[in-house]
Amino acid sequence: MLHGIDMASYYVALRRVRRCFKNFTQTGYLIVRNHIFPRETLAISQEDMKKTLVFGGAVVVLLIVGALWSRQLQTRDPSILSRSGLHWHPTLQIYVRGERVDIPKNIGLGSRHKPVHTHDDLPIIHLEFSGIVREKDAMLGRFFESWDRDMRSLGKNVRMTVNGVDNTEYEQYIMRDKDVIELHYD
Ligand SMILES: [Zn+2]
Repeated sequence: MLHGIDMASYYVALRRVRRCFKNFTQTGYLIVRNHIFPRETLAISQEDMKKTLVFGGAVVVLLIVGALWSRQLQTRDPSILSRSGLHWHPTLQIYVRGERVDIPKNIGLGSRHKPVHTHDDLPIIHLEFSGIVREKDAMLGRFFESWDRDMRSLGKNVRMTVNGVDNTEYEQYIMRDKDVIELHYD
């Protein structure tokens, strides 16, 4: 069924329209339900045809401009880190009262791999995305989501450094390839 018309009668109608059109282009007569319309009596003047073509052309141009414009907007979107995926490896070291806390292997590697995960090369965090990657995808909080732990629950009074520099962005910090991130708790 196609919008309430069964396919057989749809094809019959389609064939009829095609035959009509072929006849019209070859002979200049349009035959609809046994009425014959010569080309000259049809209300389609050359002028009308031209108008239709111009209008159709304008619609096509608008569609193309619209598509390019939306692409342009995406290109300008500063929240996009990559359009063709990324594979980054920051490291994360966690200390509670100066004692190193081990991050488990294979975080986020269930039946469906999460894009932010660990393998056995700790303390490296793997960010493996395909397609468009936005800043929020690479936030440190995403790692704790994969781990299913609250970043604030590992200890008290969290302090963070990134590449040796104090940082207060915590969960919102956008990780970069080869960052060395440290979390220290009391
Ligand atoms: Zn990796």
